[in-house]
Amino acid sequence: MNSFEYIRPATIAEALAASAQPGSAFLAGGTNLLDLMKGGVSNPSRLIDISRLQELGEIEIMADGTVRIAALVRNSDLAYRPEIQSRFPMVAEALLSGASAQLRNAATAAGNVMQRTRCAYFYDPASACNKRQPGTGCDARGGDTRAAAILGWSEHCIAVHPSDFCVPLAALDAKVEIAGPQGSREVRLEDFHLLPGDTPERETALAPGEMIIALKLPPQAGAFASHARYLKIRDRTSYAFAVVSVAAALRLDGGAIAEARIALGGVALKPWRARGAEQVLAGQALGHEAFARAADMALSSARSLGGNVFKIELARRLIVRTLSQAALGTPRSLPSLPASVLNAA
Ligand code: SF4
Repeated sequence: MNSFEYIRPATIAEALAASAQPGSAFLAGGTNLLDLMKGGVSNPSRLIDISRLQELGEIEIMADGTVRIAALVRNSDLAYRPEIQSRFPMVAEALLSGASAQLRNAATAAGNVMQRTRCAYFYDPASACNKRQPGTGCDARGGDTRAAAILGWSEHCIAVHPSDFCVPLAALDAKVEIAGPQGSREVRLEDFHLLPGDTPERETALAPGEMIIALKLPPQAGAFASHARYLKIRDRTSYAFAVVSVAAALRLDGGAIAEARIALGGVALKPWRARGAEQVLAGQALGHEAFARAADMALSSARSLGGNVFKIELARRLIVRTLSQAALGTPRSLPSLPASVLNAA
């Protein structure tokens, strides 16, 4: 391991000041960053340990009903909070679908958003990787493409974003609260992660020296609580990243769909909001036919790389299944752990 400077700031202001030095990285739960450092994939010259900043540890209900989740709230604490389970059940379901209990106890809300791709070639310093080292190529292109993206990829990078948590956040119009040298600002979660294009090394909307302060779920997101699910297909029942996942939620008016929200995980380098599919469902009666048309729309621009062609049909079927389960109603209690797509509604 390379040597690095370790700093433990007492305030957000101190953390931001410390991050002005190029090569700095924020350390919170460390569940991804420390692995990257041990593997020689990430080599920060300065680690800024923000894990003890009390001001970043709370969940707050704001006056307008917005739920503000501070950056360091642990995934487990968030998933089991009654306000989250009752108002945003697919957020809790997604959190409990991720990683292991031990990792969920350590991982933080902001760290989940900031986690890096699990592309095997990215984690192998001997492989060419445009994300790790811009301009060197992408060994994944000629390698094993089973886990690769089917939406939004470019010739420079075909990786996917691994988060479960971010998928329902994108569907529910969550916002990311950011602080930096120029002050504070907010970005939609949907716009926070960047598609690879020509610059796969640029992963998020964060500017140098900026950090995530909180995530915000708007009050309107609570309108989907009665009909919301997050289903995840993975290679093992637990402790595995999504091959494909779907967050789907419905707001019903009588027997018809007043509004739908759909986002996909495991298919692109960002949580993929399927707005076209949502429009297909607006005003439609509940049922397989409408759900299938929405799924076709969601995958209409999908492109396979050979080894991952199965993911297109898998995603299509999972959208239909998730919508069908959402239509039945959110379960009274979350599925028994490990949360599984195969559990009954
Ligand atoms: Fe790197 Fe992206 Fe290619 Fe993976 S797919 S090797 S992360 S450039």
